[in-house]
Amino acid sequence: MQTAQNLIKAYRRKRIIVCLMVALFVLLLTFGLRFISQRDLIQDRLETYAIHAVNSLDKILIPIAGKRHELVSLVGQPCENVHLPIRKQAAALQTLRSIALVKSGVLYCSSVFGNRDVVLRDRQPTLPDPQPKLLLATDESLVKGSPILIQWYPASQDGEDGVMLTINIHLLSSLLLEPQTPDIRRVVVSVGNRYYSESQGISDSIQLADGEEMLTRQSELFPFSISVTTPGAAMLALEDLPSQAPLAVILALVLSAVAWLATAGRVSFNREITHGMAQREFELYCQPQLNTRTQQCTGVEILLRWNNPRLGWISPDVFIPVAERENLIAPLTRYVLVETIRQIGYFPADPQFHISINVASSHFLQGALLRDVNQFWFSARPKQQLVLEITERDNLMGVDYRLVRELHRKGVRLAIDDFGTGSSALSWLEQLRPDILKIDKSFTNAIGTDAVNSTVTDIIIALGHRLNIELVAEGVETPQQAHYLRQHGVSILQGYLYAKPMPLAEFPRWLQGGTPPPKEHSGHVLPVIL
Ligand code: C2E
Ligand code: CA
Ligand code: CA
Repeated sequence: MQTAQNLIKAYRRKRIIVCLMVALFVLLLTFGLRFISQRDLIQDRLETYAIHAVNSLDKILIPIAGKRHELVSLVGQPCENVHLPIRKQAAALQTLRSIALVKSGVLYCSSVFGNRDVVLRDRQPTLPDPQPKLLLATDESLVKGSPILIQWYPASQDGEDGVMLTINIHLLSSLLLEPQTPDIRRVVVSVGNRYYSESQGISDSIQLADGEEMLTRQSELFPFSISVTTPGAAMLALEDLPSQAPLAVILALVLSAVAWLATAGRVSFNREITHGMAQREFELYCQPQLNTRTQQCTGVEILLRWNNPRLGWISPDVFIPVAERENLIAPLTRYVLVETIRQIGYFPADPQFHISINVASSHFLQGALLRDVNQFWFSARPKQQLVLEITERDNLMGVDYRLVRELHRKGVRLAIDDFGTGSSALSWLEQLRPDILKIDKSFTNAIGTDAVNSTVTDIIIALGHRLNIELVAEGVETPQQAHYLRQHGVSILQGYLYAKPMPLAEFPRWLQGGTPPPKEHSGHVLPVIL
């Protein structure tokens, strides 16, 4: 039984490994998918934010650009005449700090101060310019040192005349450029090769911190772009992962539970037995039983052998108990019945010759054994007599004696296997009325060596005689045992002394010559060591 337990443990280990792998896979998959989706989401959010900021600044610059011609036409006119109109325009365009008119490089009229006389180049070294220009600068007149965005429109060919519009970027930035999500560290406006951000003001370069990433979107209408910097979408997605742990763990638990249930049939010894039957891996061996008075072989016991291509030879002491526990013993007995009939030609076609098959008491339930015997044995009309061996260690009280009577009526004989090793009350002998008692090999072994057990042997023999039940002794290994048993009236003997279990195909040769089967077919099975 130790090896059976080992086998089952090995299968359970396999199932546990499968479930752990499923759990690990689910965890990795959940985290992986969540990571990818979160990273893409953050990436989308950054992009949306940058596009939105570009559009917002575009919306500020469009109405200013709309006034360009109107304002340019005012350049050159005396400040007294145009001061009011440019003040009104500056007031109408709320984002403007001031409008200034420039003539021959001199800022001569401002919406804020009226008449002025300032050389523009002194204030803004890159102005005036023959081309319209957008630039980031620092205010040198109204709020000194504050960051401003200047829109320059030239009014003459040489660019010395023009209109300078000052946009209060500092006010704008709180509306537009302040990072509003934790994903965004900084929002930077870049015009030409100057940069402005809330935190750093105006600078000539953007310094990216370690791992910081930047996404830039260009305005299609004006020469500026907006960049957003982040600690990195991948990093943010990674930081978000712990919040997904409960979901991932629940999913992993549920799916590994499903895997546990799903592998119940597949990764198990039961599955191995079912597969073994389908692949006809089980081979039938037979062990002769001899009537020592006549020196004749009167029958055989069929014993299963399993040469499993994956696990090697597996002893029936291992797979039979598992098959019984896992409700596979009836299919296995059916297999034995079918295979015995298929190879029935190896046995003498003699009604006196019996073929013993081991059955489990659970197979008696609801008449299943009777149906199977009818379907797989009697339908083939074999000449030989069928003996069903049922072990005494089984719950014999559960055997329906009406069914036994029906089997008796059909000529099937019932043997109690391993007699004397069970713990059932003897009352069932009355009910089942077995035809044969098989003296267990432990009692045969005890003959001449173990006083207590050989007394039990004597009692069993006496009981058999008293109840008129035939006695068969199994496990006979020495001539002394054979002699003792014969002397005490046990005439049918089975054991290595006469023959080891052999493949059915070798039985005719054994029967003819009485020679023992070759050693490689001795029927010995090595215990499975996992
Ligand atoms: P069992 O029915 O008591 O079978 C007799 C066992 O004793 C066989 O072991 C046989 O090989 C072994 N044996 C026979 N002669 C000697 C001997 O002289 N000395 C010793 N030491 N052993 C001897 P096996 O084939 O390993 O079977 C073990 C058990 O497995 C069987 O005990 C039986 O309970 C079960 N079994 C085997 N085949 C089947 C089957 O087709 N159906 C069912 N339900 N059980 C089976
Ligand atoms: Ca048996
Ligand atoms: Ca036995």
